[in-house]
Amino acid sequence: MPDRLRRTSDLSWSEYRERAIDSVVLLPAGAHEQHGLHLPLDTDAFIAEALAARVAEAIDGLVLPCLAYGARSLARSGGGDGFPGTTNLDGGTLVALVRDVLREQYRHGVRRAVVLLGHGENDPFAIEGANLAAREVRDPAFRVLVIGWWHVVPDDMLASLFPEGFPGWDLEHAGRVETALMFALAPERVRRERIGSVDPVVAPAFTEVPARSGRVPSQGSLADPRGATADGGAQLVKAIVAGLVAAIEASFGPRGAARP
Ligand code: ZN
Ligand code: MN
Repeated sequence: MPDRLRRTSDLSWSEYRERAIDSVVLLPAGAHEQHGLHLPLDTDAFIAEALAARVAEAIDGLVLPCLAYGARSLARSGGGDGFPGTTNLDGGTLVALVRDVLREQYRHGVRRAVVLLGHGENDPFAIEGANLAAREVRDPAFRVLVIGWWHVVPDDMLASLFPEGFPGWDLEHAGRVETALMFALAPERVRRERIGSVDPVVAPAFTEVPARSGRVPSQGSLADPRGATADGGAQLVKAIVAGLVAAIEASFGPRGAARP
């Protein structure tokens, strides 16, 4: 099936009606957020959408339009809100958005939905939105999986990507992994000449409100992006898609299985 027919936005209402009931429907949830000097503001959204398209291909699923804005960027995991372009949703806005989109899918027959996160800060709000949707529809047959692509990156792959030790997912913002993924998914969107070292400033694990300046490397990347390769990115994409498919099948049953 051509890629465009996996996007609900390309379907007519009657095509949607035919496919929605028996399909796993994926909602990519990204952000419009600084990603260092070398990656575009839509990096989290772009990666979530690209992975969702590949997962949909593998499981004969559908992809909803990406949520292009995300929850408030935190200094310790996204650089915070001090960088031009970072466009934060209030938590309640994202909760309501996820709740409404999921409930509307349910209203049209969808019973298995995946919120595929591309932005770490979305996680608690997407979970809350899914819970509120479930509470509204009051149908135990309606199942939602909320999952971030980083949840399924295999440990052995991290060990080989980071021989010096993995810095942790919070700091891996516009670092080696996201840069490698972008090299694999859209190399023309990476500013290679802007890839460099980052200031040795370590964002604290706690959260200051308002955030204090000087807690985040001035480049915006929280970890060093050097060492990212297209090859490494391609291996990551493959492993992540496999991991997401496995998680979806574990939650909803194998492909083609009847709905519960
Ligand atoms: Zn990111
Ligand atoms: Mn992010």
